[in-house]
Amino acid sequence: MTDAHPAGPEQRPGLAPLIPPTLQAPGSPPARRVLIVGGGYVGLYTALTLQKALRSELKRGQVQITVVDPRSYMTYQPFLPETAAGSLEARQVVVSLRRELKHCAVIDGRLVGLDHTGKRARIEPGVGSAYDLGYDVVVVAPGSIAKTLPIPGLAAVGIGFKQVEEAIGLRNHILNRLDAAASTADPQVRARALTFVFIGGGYAGIEAFAELEDMARYATRYYPNVAADDMHWLLVEAGGRILGEVSAPMATYTLDELRGRGMDVRLSTRLDSCVDGNVELSDGTSLSSDTVVWTAGVKPNPVLESTDLPLDSLHRIPCTADLRVRGVPDAWSAGDCAAVPDLTKGDGSPDSPTCAPNAQHAVRQARLLGRNIAHSLQGRPTKDYRHKYAGSVASLGLYKGVAEVYGVKLKGFPAWFMHRTYHLSRMPTTNRKVRILSEWTVALLFRRDVVSIGEIEMPTRDFRAAAGPVDRAADRTRRDTTPRNTTPRNTAHDRRRAQARSSSAILDQTGADVTDTAGPGGRPTPAEERSSREEGLPAKTTRDSEQEVYAGDAPDAPTFGDTAEPVAPADEAVSRG
Ligand SMILES: Cc1cc2nc3c(=O)[nH]c(=O)nc-3n(C[C@H](O)[C@H](O)[C@H](O)COP(=O)(O)OP(=O)(O)OC[C@H]3O[C@@H](n4cnc5c(N)ncnc54)[C@H](O)[C@@H]3O)c2cc1C
Repeated sequence: MTDAHPAGPEQRPGLAPLIPPTLQAPGSPPARRVLIVGGGYVGLYTALTLQKALRSELKRGQVQITVVDPRSYMTYQPFLPETAAGSLEARQVVVSLRRELKHCAVIDGRLVGLDHTGKRARIEPGVGSAYDLGYDVVVVAPGSIAKTLPIPGLAAVGIGFKQVEEAIGLRNHILNRLDAAASTADPQVRARALTFVFIGGGYAGIEAFAELEDMARYATRYYPNVAADDMHWLLVEAGGRILGEVSAPMATYTLDELRGRGMDVRLSTRLDSCVDGNVELSDGTSLSSDTVVWTAGVKPNPVLESTDLPLDSLHRIPCTADLRVRGVPDAWSAGDCAAVPDLTKGDGSPDSPTCAPNAQHAVRQARLLGRNIAHSLQGRPTKDYRHKYAGSVASLGLYKGVAEVYGVKLKGFPAWFMHRTYHLSRMPTTNRKVRILSEWTVALLFRRDVVSIGEIEMPTRDFRAAAGPVDRAADRTRRDTTPRNTTPRNTAHDRRRAQARSSSAILDQTGADVTDTAGPGGRPTPAEERSSREEGLPAKTTRDSEQEVYAGDAPDAPTFGDTAEPVAPADEAVSRG
C-alpha cells in the first residue's frame, strides 16, 4: 500500500446545486455538494478541515458542505465522567456546530436511509416529515451506540453513558438517591438507593464509576445520616481484567486503587437480570438497586444497515487506508462506525487489523479525511491514515488517575494532571479550552459542587401546579383515545404548517434539492414527544405506559427513567431542535 492515491472520479454532473444559483458565477459548473452524516468527532473535524482547505471554493460557490446530526452540538465524550462528577458544566463539554461551522449548512435531523447509488440521503428532521437530500460526496460518520445484550430488565432500568444528557441525568439521579436514602425510615429502600451498579470495565465504565463514587463520597459529608461506607459501589466486568487499553500492571494498579476505596469490582462476572432493579449476577449475587449503569462497550450505529454501502462482519463500513469506502466512489468514512486498516499493524489489505474505536483515531482520521476530500475535489493525490496508538489516560476521581502514554506509566496525581492536560489540549475550539480552564481554576478555590437539579428535567411542573389542578381523568381519556402518531395540540394542520416551515427553512439555508415524500401520518417526532411531555403528557416509554405517573406523583423511589425530559445544555449558542 502506497501513501498516495490518484484523485478519484468525484464529478457527478446534472444534480441540482445545494446553494442558490445567484451565488455562483454565471456559466460555472454546479457546486459539488458534500454531505457529512454525523456531527461528532469525525463530522465536526472533517467539516472544520474542509472549511479551511476549500475556503476559496466555498466563497466562489463551487462547493457546499452540509452536516446532518440530530444534536446541534458535538460532545467531547472523554469529559463526560468529569461532567457527571460536577467538575465541569455540561455546556463546556459540547461544541455548537452552527457556531463553529459558519461556512457549512447544519441540519438538525437524522439520517434514516442512504441510497448512494442514486446519491440521495433520507433525512428525518427534528420537526416535520422526512425528506430526501441529494449530494455528490458523502462522509458517513454516525459513530456508535451502546452495545447492549438481551438481559431481562436492562432496557427498562439501564442507564447509558454516552451522551451529555445521560451524564447530567446520572449525576442528578445519584445525588437524588442520597437524598432518598437520607429521608426514608425503610432500611430496604435505603439500601437499594445506596447501591450503584455499573456494568463494563473499559475506560468509559471505569472513569464513570470512579468519578461518580468520588463525587458521592464527598457529598455524604452533607448527609449526617449517610456515611460513605453505607454506599455499595459495584462494577461487574465479564472479562478477566479491567481497562483493556492499558498494560496488565496498570490495570492491576487501577483495580487495587478502586478496591482500596471500598469499591466492589468483580471480574469474570456477568449481569444476568435486573428486572425492576432486582440485580442478579452470574456469581449468584442478588441485590436491589435503583441505579444500573451500562458501559459495556459500543457497536456501530445501526443506521448503517439502512444504507446501500458495504458492511463488514462487525457491521462497520470497510475503508481503505485513505478513508474511502472500499470499492465505492464518492463515499468516505471514519471513526467508530468505520473499519479503517491500522497500517502500524498490517499492510492495509481488507483482512488486516483495524483501528480501535476511540477519540484518538477519530480526531486524526477526521483531519486527514477533510484534507483527502479537499484534495480529491481539487484533483490532487490523497494520503493514507497511519497512527500508532499513543496510549490511554484515565481519571479516577479528583486528583486520582492512571496513564500510560508511549510506554510511560503514571499513577495518582501526575496521571490525573496528564489526563486533564491532554484532554484540554484536544478539546475543540479555543473558546471551550479557555472556559474549561477557568472553570477548573475557580474550582480550586471553592469546595466541590454537590447540588442536584433534577427538577430541571421537569421544567413545567410548578407552573402546571400553579395553573390549577390537571384534569387527569380527562387527560387519560384524551391520551387513550389519541392515535399513537398524533399529539392533541399538534393537529395535522399544525404539522403540515410546521413541515412547510421546516422544508422552506432548509431550502432557504441550503438550496438543496429537497424532496418531501412523507405523508401526514408519520410517527411523532422527538420534538412532538418533548412538546407532549411539556403538556404534562408523559412520553410513551415502556416505563411510562406501565406506570402512567405524572411528574408531581413521583413515587418514593423514582428511577432514572421517570423524568424523561433530557437536559439540554444552557449555552445560548447551543440549542436542541
Ligand atoms: C464516556 C466516554 C468516554 C470516552 N473517553 C475516551 C477517551 O478518554 N479517549 C478516547 O480516545 N476515546 C474516548 N471515548 C470514545 C470516543 O468518544 C469515540 O471513539 C469518538 O467519539 C468517536 O467519534 P465518532 O465521530 O465516530 O462518533 P461520535 O463522536 O459519537 O459522533 C457521532 C455523531 O453522529 C450523530 N448521529 C448518530 N446517529 C445519526 C444519524 N442517524 N444521522 C445523523 N447523525 C447521527 C450523533 O449524534 C453524533 O453527534 C469515550 C467515549 C465515551 C462514551
